Amino acid sequence: MKKNILVTNDDGIYGVGLRPLIRELQKLGTVTAIVPDQERSGASHSITLHKPFRIHEMEPGLYLTNGTPADCVKYGVRSLMKGKVDLIVSGINTGPNLGNDVVYSGTVAGAREGAMLGFSSFAVSVAEQVNGDFEQAARIAARIAAHVMDMKCPLSKIYLNVNVPRIVKGMMLTSVGSRVYDENVECRTDPRGKKYYWLAGSFVAGEHHEGTDITAVAKGYVSITPLHLDPTAYNEFARLDSLVNDAPQG
Ligand code: MN
Repeated sequence: MKKNILVTNDDGIYGVGLRPLIRELQKLGTVTAIVPDQERSGASHSITLHKPFRIHEMEPGLYLTNGTPADCVKYGVRSLMKGKVDLIVSGINTGPNLGNDVVYSGTVAGAREGAMLGFSSFAVSVAEQVNGDFEQAARIAARIAAHVMDMKCPLSKIYLNVNVPRIVKGMMLTSVGSRVYDENVECRTDPRGKKYYWLAGSFVAGEHHEGTDITAVAKGYVSITPLHLDPTAYNEFARLDSLVNDAPQG
């Protein structure tokens, strides 16, 4: 039976990774792409609640929205695809989503929303900010997509975060590392004499621990990180027990 694949992204309709991804995934099934009408990088998992959400069919199978990646997946699954979804792919993002980036990333949130709705989902990014090889990343995304759709059980309560370096030596399952930014806040004055601020943080270094997404990509491996939907710190229950049990009741 033909597979139904939903695609979203956070770079929006003009994101350079969108078309290569759609083209490669079309070899595996019917692709419905539903994407923001403008760049939503850094939107994380925000959703539209206080204004109407609009969907405009730009061409067959490609829909534009005024929302975020999480919106696109939510409305795409419910309204356009009526729940008939075999896989959700979010990307291909321009630039890496490594370490702490997964918290801020709209791309990763697209996949997280897919997983929350109960579908196999992954996010995919090229690890270069400039000159990323989107054709190669699209072929790798399609290979992962085929594998995930062939799995006996769909991914459940987890989703995947994939980062593709320019030179690929192989693939690696990784953990979330921690990326370090120098988060300078630049203060300037606008032409009307009012101050404004701009986050000018640039990536400085990651802690290069073995097995992390950062290290894998630095060594030329496609990093695939399985991420839990459930962020509960189960290991901490014992240590925090006294917080609730030694406290005066009432
Ligand atoms: Mn982006």
